[in-house]
Amino acid sequence: MALLPLQQALDHILSVVPAPPTTESLPIVDCLGRVVGKPVTNQRDVPPFDNSAMDGYALRAADLPGTLRVSQRIPAGAPAMELEPGTAARIFTGALIPPGADTVVIQEDVAEADLATDRVTFMQPATQGQHIRLRGSDVPAGASVFDAGRVLQPQDLALAASTGTPVIDVYQRLKVAILSTGDELVAPGETPADWQIYNSNSVQLASQVQALGCEPVVLDTPGDNPEEIRNALQQAAAIADCIVTSGGVSVGEEDHVRGQIEALGSIDIWKLAIKPGKPVAFGRVLDCPIFGLPGNPVSSWVTFGLVVKPWLLAAQGALVPRHRRIRYRAAFNRPKPGAREEYLRVSLTEDMGAGLAGDQGSGVLSSVGRADGLAIIPVGEVVKAGDEVDVILISEFLSPSAAG
Ligand code: AMP
Ligand code: MG
Repeated sequence: MALLPLQQALDHILSVVPAPPTTESLPIVDCLGRVVGKPVTNQRDVPPFDNSAMDGYALRAADLPGTLRVSQRIPAGAPAMELEPGTAARIFTGALIPPGADTVVIQEDVAEADLATDRVTFMQPATQGQHIRLRGSDVPAGASVFDAGRVLQPQDLALAASTGTPVIDVYQRLKVAILSTGDELVAPGETPADWQIYNSNSVQLASQVQALGCEPVVLDTPGDNPEEIRNALQQAAAIADCIVTSGGVSVGEEDHVRGQIEALGSIDIWKLAIKPGKPVAFGRVLDCPIFGLPGNPVSSWVTFGLVVKPWLLAAQGALVPRHRRIRYRAAFNRPKPGAREEYLRVSLTEDMGAGLAGDQGSGVLSSVGRADGLAIIPVGEVVKAGDEVDVILISEFLSPSAAG
């Protein structure tokens, strides 16, 4: 089977995303990372009244320059009276602009304040309207706050709160079964035999699933034999909306995951033209969508972000842009053209330089931790130091705000 370019695999995978789940109404404090299911419309102007952006004096610009009596004091959270003609109101940030005032002068611009007579002197004219935040200038009543498909971040929840929205209808979380396979694996905390290693993929995949607002369910690791893997796949399909496996999906005699997916369902896609991460499978087990990821820890980490993440976000109803590709200058050489699109772990500098973050082996996790970005080297291209390369920021690669 020929290796499939990533984009072709994504086109297929995204074409079989099911309809979004049903919605549930949640208090906004519980909505972080959740996807808006029903649009939210603003009920009350934000800000709800003209208010002062600064501490100072509210007055009429036409009265300046001059000396004005301070006729009232208006802190935030208090009502205000009509401004007496020819006077100023002492005012504080967030306080209501009194009817009749059209300008705020900041307290630092007062030439003289006579506390005994309550008079303030302004030597300069002021621009009418300055330092006033107008009613409805942020979000007017009736305007859309969120469309469906938005992944809610802290600033979104703040915006919802500022409009007085107590609950949001969000799509229900998808349940994702995580199934690491391999006789060599033991969980951290267990005692490994000399020929065994710790399972790092389960916690990595579960954390990635959680960061996308889905619910991970980590299953026990089956032995590397067809029966145990079949049982585990059946169990996963019964409880989850999607299954993500790691390991055993290559062509070796000990790789049984692919065969058991085919025995219980079908495989649409297998083997991508990317490095790391060639042996990726996508299909169905008992009608449950399944991603079979490679066992090498960096391969499973990269392919989750490139392949599983776009599907999971779309299946949760999220509408997000593609990962941005930002041009950096390579501080490394790649003299041999590759047959697969390569994702290199790179450290980024403020002057837009990208250097290799360390050993690029598909089992080397420590260089992932050192990387700020993934530099993408297209098939058949070589890189010389100083060439521009496309980079996806790791922070974006891991966030639910973009995918693909
Ligand atoms: P496989 O895809 O099963 O051929 O595994 C490829 C490599 O990844 C082997 O060195 C495995 O020991 C390693 N590996 C497989 N699964 C895991 C896991 N869950 N955690 C850490 N390493 C793994
Ligand atoms: Mg294996």
